[in-house]
Amino acid sequence: MKVKREFFRNLKELPTEELLAPGSPMCAGCGGLITLRLVLKVLGPNVVVVNAAGCLTMLAAYPYSPLRASWLYTTMGSAPAGAQGVRDALDVLIARGRLPASEDLRVVVLAGDGSTLDIGLSSMSGAIHRGLDFHYICYDNEAFGNTGFQGSSSSPFGSRTATSPAGTTQHKKDLFALWLAHRPPYAATVSAADPVDLAEKVRRSMQFRGPKLFVGLATCPPGWGIDPAQGHHVGKLALDTGIWPLKEAVHGEVRHTYVPDHLKPVEDYLQTQARFHHLFSPQRHDDILATIQNEVIGYWNEVRHREFPQTLLGELSRADLR
Ligand code: SF4
Repeated sequence: MKVKREFFRNLKELPTEELLAPGSPMCAGCGGLITLRLVLKVLGPNVVVVNAAGCLTMLAAYPYSPLRASWLYTTMGSAPAGAQGVRDALDVLIARGRLPASEDLRVVVLAGDGSTLDIGLSSMSGAIHRGLDFHYICYDNEAFGNTGFQGSSSSPFGSRTATSPAGTTQHKKDLFALWLAHRPPYAATVSAADPVDLAEKVRRSMQFRGPKLFVGLATCPPGWGIDPAQGHHVGKLALDTGIWPLKEAVHGEVRHTYVPDHLKPVEDYLQTQARFHHLFSPQRHDDILATIQNEVIGYWNEVRHREFPQTLLGELSRADLR
């Protein structure tokens, strides 16, 4: 079940102009890079990207950058503070008549999950709390990808990282919920595996002033142990197993933009990636697999009750997985 779209109904309607040139040194099949490409297509060229140190800072080797947008590099912990400075400078220049309002830029923070949920958490929280007018793009590859795939607080339960070789025992922080606690005008989860949904949300967010979140699942071939050519397939499985829900919140009101009619078993997703292979071999860890599956089923049952109370959608159970 998909919600009705206002701006983009299919792939053919997405903007064709490319604002991110090919040929950067990013890994082949990087989901974060595809997410950025799609976001920029919709936001257009009048953008300044404030990039927290991380995988995507490899995009620019001074003085060259593949971005049509202006670009500012910051430390991992200070991108939202940098964005505040850029926004303030633009506002002052416009107020003093030194920059025509027609040449104003959209301020976009680009950060990975380690920067977002660990090192830069307080800076991000402060910027949202101040009502900074910016887009925040978190490419979530669920670890510190740029430095060797150490665990972050976004690493999912049971996943193998460089700092959790037997599997992560903590559960992933909920960035979407964390943002909602700050009452922003707009927040969304997205996936490059559903580019039309992503573009629709970016376009919708452009009508709001204030902090706007986009957190995108970033398939990561070297960190996840997948073939770069399988990135889209793995990203789609994250949607169809329900592990990565697509949703948005406008002024705090949450709705899911894709509700799978039938969930696939989470094992279909986990088995595609080397970071979960230890859950299946040399012996199965049924307790961990059941925990992951039951969390997903519990999540979607709660969504069905809250968002579709009048429909015939019944309670999901493990017997419904296929
Ligand atoms: S390590 Fe992962 S997130 Fe980083 S550039 Fe490579 S594919 Fe992208």
